[in-house]
Amino acid sequence: MILGIDIGGSFTDMLLMDEEKFLPYSTFSTSLENVIKEIEEVMHEKEIDAVGIGIAAWLRKGKILHAPNLPFKSFNLQINLPYIMENDANCFAYAASKILNESNIMGITVGTGIGMGIVIEGKIYRGEGVAGEIGHNVIGGDAKCVCGGKGHLECYFSGWSIGERYGKEAKELFAEGKFPYDENFEIFCRAIANAVMLFDLPVVAIGGRIGGRLKKEKLNKIYDFLPHHFEPEIRIIKDDFMVAKGACFLAKTLL
Ligand SMILES: [Zn+2]
Repeated sequence: MILGIDIGGSFTDMLLMDEEKFLPYSTFSTSLENVIKEIEEVMHEKEIDAVGIGIAAWLRKGKILHAPNLPFKSFNLQINLPYIMENDANCFAYAASKILNESNIMGITVGTGIGMGIVIEGKIYRGEGVAGEIGHNVIGGDAKCVCGGKGHLECYFSGWSIGERYGKEAKELFAEGKFPYDENFEIFCRAIANAVMLFDLPVVAIGGRIGGRLKKEKLNKIYDFLPHHFEPEIRIIKDDFMVAKGACFLAKTLL
């Protein structure tokens, strides 16, 4: 059995993969204490052969460089099992590639922050490790980003920035799937269109706790920023366990 963990900025999801079947295990709010406790618990209860972790962090050669959306700076799992740690958006794109049976795909996750994963010919493209961090593209303006920069895409459209703008009201808006489809959302669509033009991949999968709940007709705005020669299929993935699934698929390659 493989354990897949998605450590996000706000929530952590755990999933078990038995052969090709997925069994959601738990969802809890992210803190270092909670993550360690839950991992110990599942290890005690289930026979785990390998562990895959998708984490909201910038990684280079398996080491965390920066994790602006996490409540802790580093994470090291001490276990005697095959184990892999990968950027969460990369896990999302990898799972989307497997599940949609599409070997060339761009995956965008929108939750607390924004991530992008690129899968080319069935393999994750990482560059030197941090390829695809579109959440920190400079859009402009002076708004402070969680990463330490300013005017980044996440300052305009992300869980944390919408939360800052709407305060307590944001939680209700999210629960009802009412997102602000305003000029900031348009900026988000434009950033995706720019990324599409760099890679020209046939499918753009959009997920995450916010991304997976966005409306397709609103996301069609992306096409307004693309020359008509670019026609990627936009797929909304309504599955909060996609990152954990991708982490399972990656961990399986270790066995
Ligand atoms: Zn940033």
